[in-house]
Amino acid sequence: MAHRPSVIIAGAGIGGLAAAALLRRRGFEVAVYEQARRLQEVGAGVQLSANAVKVLRSLEMEEHAVSRGFLPTHFIGWSWKSGRRLYRTPISPLHEQRFGAPYVHIHRADLLEALADGVPAGSIHLAHRLVDLAEADGGGMRASFENGHTAHADVVIGADGIHSAVRRCLFGPEAPRFTGNMCWRGVIPADALPAGHIAPASSNWMGPQGHVVHYYLRGGSLVNFVAVRETDAWLGESWTTPSSKEELLQAFEGWHPRLLALFERADGIHKWGLFDRDPLPAWSKGGATLLGDAAHPMLPFLAQGAGQALEDAYAVADWLGRYPDRPAEALAAYEAERQARTARIQLAARARSLTTHIKSPWAAFKRDVAFAWQQVVSPNATTHRAEWIYRHDVTQVERTLGG
Ligand SMILES: Cc1cc2nc3c(=O)[nH]c(=O)nc-3n(C[C@H](O)[C@H](O)[C@H](O)COP(=O)(O)OP(=O)(O)OC[C@H]3O[C@@H](n4cnc5c(N)ncnc54)[C@H](O)[C@@H]3O)c2cc1C
Repeated sequence: MAHRPSVIIAGAGIGGLAAAALLRRRGFEVAVYEQARRLQEVGAGVQLSANAVKVLRSLEMEEHAVSRGFLPTHFIGWSWKSGRRLYRTPISPLHEQRFGAPYVHIHRADLLEALADGVPAGSIHLAHRLVDLAEADGGGMRASFENGHTAHADVVIGADGIHSAVRRCLFGPEAPRFTGNMCWRGVIPADALPAGHIAPASSNWMGPQGHVVHYYLRGGSLVNFVAVRETDAWLGESWTTPSSKEELLQAFEGWHPRLLALFERADGIHKWGLFDRDPLPAWSKGGATLLGDAAHPMLPFLAQGAGQALEDAYAVADWLGRYPDRPAEALAAYEAERQARTARIQLAARARSLTTHIKSPWAAFKRDVAFAWQQVVSPNATTHRAEWIYRHDVTQVERTLGG
């Protein structure tokens, strides 16, 4: 096997661990540096569409995701006040038939744990917060950590999330923008709810200046919800700010009793602000690049942030694996492959936030008529016409450098 460049990955989130596991399969020595003291994910779910599950398949993790997760039958839209069904479009099993892999709801901790299994524990350095990155004198890159440690490698991949230190070191400081949306999330044992209270679907309650998504996890034993409300109050992006049932119920006062009954049973609720960035035209410099939220944080309205981090991880590992002797060119090719797709999804997710939260009753009525019409003319179309996202198979892309 040709000599492999050494690789440092900053961040042991979904994207960083996936990249580490995929690079190891291609013979790379990878060191992952994570700021947290232990590998952990917030208690919340994540929706993975076929394009993301294909990356898990390449890691032989698809079965695990399906057996630990939940396959929803439909996307269902509900009206916030009347509880009227606005649309119902099929997911399982049609999604798999059309796009070649299932649509899975999985607990983030289960996903992270499975990805971490693909990386030897000795390669993951916890409590290492990257604070600086520079070209090293003798070639390669030098990463410095808050605890005083430094590390050298030929390649550095910044998978360190929306506040990426690697991004700051490569392209300068630029704060993310508060979108005016506040989120609450919680997970509820399904048996705390009356039987049949929650449809086995990906449900989306749409109302003026807010929406709520809920779905099952872990074979239907847990219900995950994310509740979003527009607000002027500025909030940090931490996923770990505790909130309360009372605060949540107050924010959704007047919404349908079926939804409020779900909130009534929630414990351990957390809240955070939703932040956003514009697409970044360039992600790579010399031997360093970005991946996942560090490169292209996106609003959750298309449920694609983790999926795109997984696609990035596959693409960067495959480019480096094919051209280990030309790492800078491989990183530039990775960026060229991924930038346009992820920028398009970032902007589409942003646009969808506007239609989901429509305030004017007349505009909401027109939107709902459009949903109803789509059901008549193309009942199997995905609700938000996201076929172009789901269809993509990053594991089958041809990757050849010129020269
Ligand atoms: C409400 C909500 C719902 C969502 N739902 C979905 C969904 O259904 N489907 C989907 O695909 N996506 C969803 N997403 C998006 C998804 O969660 C993110 O896009 C995804 O987690 C990004 O993964 P990442 O690995 O790039 O970054 P992160 O998960 O943020 O991981 C970054 C890691 O880097 C570490 N780190 C940070 N700074 C440093 C540093 N300086 N040095 C070392 N380590 C560092 C962090 O501790 C963390 O472990 C949702 C997001 C939100 C907000």
